[in-house]
Formats: sequence, C-alpha cells, structure tokens
Amino acid sequence: MLAEHGPDAMIWAGGTDMTLHWQREKVSPTVCVDIRDVSQLDFIEVGNDAIRIGAMTALATLERAAGRHHILKMLSDITKLMCTPQTRTLATVGGNMCNASPAADLSPAFVALDATAVIFGRNGTREVTAYDFFVGVNRTAVAQDEILQEVTIPLPSDGEIHGSYRRIDRTVVDIALVNGSAAVTVGIDGVISKVGLGLGAVAPIILNAPDASAALEGTSLADVTRDKLAEVAAIAARHAKPITDVRASAGYRQDMVEVMLRRALEDAITNHGGKLR
Ligand SMILES: Cc1cc2nc3c(=O)[nH]c(=O)nc-3n(C[C@H](O)[C@H](O)[C@H](O)COP(=O)(O)OP(=O)(O)OC[C@H]3O[C@@H](n4cnc5c(N)ncnc54)[C@H](O)[C@@H]3O)c2cc1C
Repeated sequence: MLAEHGPDAMIWAGGTDMTLHWQREKVSPTVCVDIRDVSQLDFIEVGNDAIRIGAMTALATLERAAGRHHILKMLSDITKLMCTPQTRTLATVGGNMCNASPAADLSPAFVALDATAVIFGRNGTREVTAYDFFVGVNRTAVAQDEILQEVTIPLPSDGEIHGSYRRIDRTVVDIALVNGSAAVTVGIDGVISKVGLGLGAVAPIILNAPDASAALEGTSLADVTRDKLAEVAAIAARHAKPITDVRASAGYRQDMVEVMLRRALEDAITNHGGKLR
C-alpha cells in the first residue's frame, strides 16, 4: 500500500505523534496504513546474543519487561519517563524511532547500545545501525515503501554490558531538554572493551562520540575514576551542536549534555560493580 500510494501514504502505529503532526499540518496523508493489528511486529525476544524488540511493541509493554533482562530494565526505566501511562499504552517503540525527534528518549539509548534497525520492504529486510537510522529531524533511513520491523540490541558473548540514561525535562509529560545515554561492555578479563554513547537534543540527529568512547576503552574497570569519566564526557560534549528554542538555550544544553553523559557513564560503571573514586 505504501508503494502504491507513494508519499501520500503514511504508517499509523500508535498515532500519538501522528495526531499532533496532522493537527499542526506538518503532515497531511491521504492514506494511513494502520499497522496496529500486525501482531508479528509486537514482540520482545531475549536471546543469548541479542534482544529483539518489534516495532509495534507498546511503550507500556516495554515498561513491563524490566524483569526479563537488565538491559530491558534500563529501557523500562526510560519508558517510565515518557508520556503518561495512558499514552504509553498506544505509543510504540517503532513510532518513537521513526518519528525521529532529536529529543526522543529511546533513541539515544539505542545508539549507545549499538542497536540495529531492521527495515522491511518489498525486497526483503535490510539493516542499519541505530546511529545511521536517523538522518535529520523527523527523517530516517526508512524509505517511503518500507517499514521499521524491529530493533535488535547485540549482547556481548565475552563479557557483560550495562547501560544508563539521563535526561533533563521541564515537566513529566514534556520531552527532554537534553539527554545522554551510555553503554559500557566489560570483558571477562575486567577490561572495558566497548563504550557506546548517545547524545540527544543537541543536534538534528542523535549523536555518538567515537573519540570519547575510545578514551575509555581498554581501561580496567578497577582503574576507572570519576575524573576519567568527566574527561570522557567532556570529549563527547564537544560533538554537540545545540540550538536555542522554547525549551532551553543552546548554552544550557551544551553544559548539561556533558553532565548527563558523565552521570550516565557513572551509572553504567556502578551497574558493573565498579567502585568510583
Ligand atoms: C502527551 C505526549 C507526551 C509525549 N512524551 C514523550 C516523551 O516523554 N518522550 C518521547 O520520546 N516521546 C514522547 N511523545 C511522543 C510519542 O508518544 C512517542 O514518540 C511514541 O513512541 C510514538 O509512537 P507511535 O506509535 O504513537 O507513533 P505514530 O504517531 O503512529 O508514528 C510516528 C511516526 O513514525 C512513523 N512510523 C510509526 N511506526 C512505523 C514503522 N514501524 N515503520 C515506519 N514508520 C513508522 C509514522 O508514519 C509517523 O511518521 C509524547 C507524545 C505525547 C502525545
């Protein structure tokens, strides 16, 4: 149907973003392809090497999955910051990704966790990293005749991954003024093998910071200090290109993204059992 109707057609998932965009005339589809009853897109699967989350998984379902894996606990804690309980029963994980708001809450976590977006079209499926998924404000790598099928979070085979997410907001139902997420993998030798970072609301897309990640990778968990994490957060914050808008000034966002990342990194290290000095 998407291919048949072209740019006039849009996916309707939970409709919580679509309703607002339509009301404000940011979109005006003549055909809505309602995928709410596509049950094959509504699942959370925990495997040995990955966690798969279907695009039509409601935020409320993700919220209730906390007990199944500590990474799902991290994502569940994020959903509790989002919308209201009523909206979370409609709003979906895929809709949050595909709306591609730079201030969305799940997106920085998916970037930090090095998740993969599985995109489905008439020619089968293709995969892009969560970082490459976002191409601009409300713009993603999903083509007009494709849909997001699922998000896959890889789990390390030779270590453990822990993550964290921090945000600043004005009210509980507002989107983030600025946010930051960190995911740290520690190998069985106790050395940090991978660091993922996601910076939100400081650029048109969710940013990562490979140079900051590299500054922490290779460090023994036992040697990580608060000063080291502050240094890593400062490197990452240099990537930010915030703007001033109704919610916050560019300067505030620039300062706070560094604080959010530092705290997210501290949480991730603490979740590993690291003792910060
Ligand atoms: C009161 C309120 C509070 C909110 N608070 C927050 C908040 O705190 N944090 C936050 O991040 N967001 C928040 N939101 C935004 C919104 O609820 C979320 O982004 C939600 O997850 C969107 O999901 P949805 O299923 O409703 O998407 P929809 O509105 O159905 O779709 C959003 C966009 O994605 C496209 N789309 C949806 N699914 C797919 C798919 N599988 N493949 C391809 N394209 C797709 C649609 O065509 C549309 O362009 C809030 C919204 C409201 C109304």
